[in-house]
Amino acid sequence: MFSRAYLDWNATAPLRAEVRSAVSAALEAFGNPSSVHTEGRAARKLVEAARAQVANAIGAKIDSVVFTSGGTEANAQALAPGWSLSGHVYARLFVSAIEHPSVLAGGRFAAPDVLQAPVTSDGILDLGKLHRLLSTGAPTLVSVMLANNETGAIQPISAAATIVHEAGGILHVDAVQALGRMPLNVAALGADLVTLSAHKIGGPKGVGALIVCNANLHLPPALVRGGGQERNRRAGTENVAGIAGFGAAVAAASIKGANEAKHMQHLRDRLEAGLAAIEGVTVFSIAVPRLPNTTLFALKGIRAETAVIALDLEGIAVSSGAACSSGKVQPSHVLAAMGVDEELARGAIRVSTGYATKEGDIDRILETWRKLSGVLRKP
Ligand code: PLP
Repeated sequence: MFSRAYLDWNATAPLRAEVRSAVSAALEAFGNPSSVHTEGRAARKLVEAARAQVANAIGAKIDSVVFTSGGTEANAQALAPGWSLSGHVYARLFVSAIEHPSVLAGGRFAAPDVLQAPVTSDGILDLGKLHRLLSTGAPTLVSVMLANNETGAIQPISAAATIVHEAGGILHVDAVQALGRMPLNVAALGADLVTLSAHKIGGPKGVGALIVCNANLHLPPALVRGGGQERNRRAGTENVAGIAGFGAAVAAASIKGANEAKHMQHLRDRLEAGLAAIEGVTVFSIAVPRLPNTTLFALKGIRAETAVIALDLEGIAVSSGAACSSGKVQPSHVLAAMGVDEELARGAIRVSTGYATKEGDIDRILETWRKLSGVLRKP
C-alpha cells in the first residue's frame, strides 16, 4: 500500500496509543467534575490525575496548572495587563519578534503597549537589546518562547529570566514546541508563566495549560469568566477527556522523551547531511542549539507553496514556514526578523519529525527533493 511520510509534527502530532486509551476511557466518565455525586467525583479524579501528570513532568506545583483550550488560549490568558507583583501592576508587554502569532498579537494589551524585542540573524533573542529595552520605563511583562516553531532555535530563557527579573519584570515562556522534545523544568527555566499544548506531543487538539509558576503573582481578571472552575482562573466545564489525554501524553513523553529526542536528532542529522549535498540549500539557525526534530531550509528560486504541493502529491507532508499561517503567501515573520532575504524566505520549507518518523521517510524526502528542486527552480 502507498504510505505517506508525515513530516509536519510541529503543526501537530499523531495521537499516541496511550492517549487514545486514556481519552476513550475518560469519555465514559460522563459526570460533571464540579458535581459532588459519585459520577462527578469520578470525572474530577481524572482531571486532577492529569493535573498531577502535567505538573510532575515539568517540575511544577500541582495547583499552578490551569487547563485551557490549548496553547493559543494559554497565551491569551498570560498576556493580560493586570498581573501584579509586590504592588506593581504590569501594564507593558515586550515580546520577541519570532513569537507565535498568538503571542505577537499581544493578548489583551493595547497595541501601543506592546513592543518587539529583536533577534540575531541566527534567530536567537538579542539579550543585550532586551536588557537595553528593559532599562527604561516601568517594569514589564516579557514573553519569549522556549523553542521556535519554524526554525526550532532554542532561546536563552534562563539568561532572559535573570535580565527580566533584575529589571523588576516577569517572564512568560511559550513552551509549546519544546514540551516532550527537550528537557523542561519550569523551576530551572526561571519563568513566571509557561504555556503548554497537548497536540504537539501526541495528545488531543483543543487542550493545553497555563502554568502559573510564581505563586506570588496576583492574577488579572480571568479571560473566560462564569463558573468558578480552575479555582476561578478559567470558567467552563472542563474538557475531561481532552485533559485526561493531555495527562497521558505528557506522562508518555516524560518516560520516552529522551530516547525519542535521540531518534529525532539522528534523523535530523541524516536529513541535513543530505541537504548539504544539494547545491544552494540554506538551513536556517543551523549554527545555534535547535530542537532535535526541526529543520527549516530553502533553495533560492523555489516557492514554498509550490514545493509543499509538489511534495504532497509525492506523498510527503511538510509545511511552508509556520503551519498556522501556511495558507498565507507572505514570507515568514520569523525569517524577516532574522533579516533573511525575502526571496529566499519565500522558499522556506519546514521538515519536523516525531518518534514515529523512520529513516525511510527522510530518505524519501531527500530523494524527492533532489528530483523536484531541478524541476521547480525558476531559471
Ligand atoms: N505556540 C506555539 C509556539 C505554537 O507552535 C503553537 C501552535 O502551532 C501555539 C502556540 C498554539 O497552540 P494551539 O494549537 O494549542 O492553540
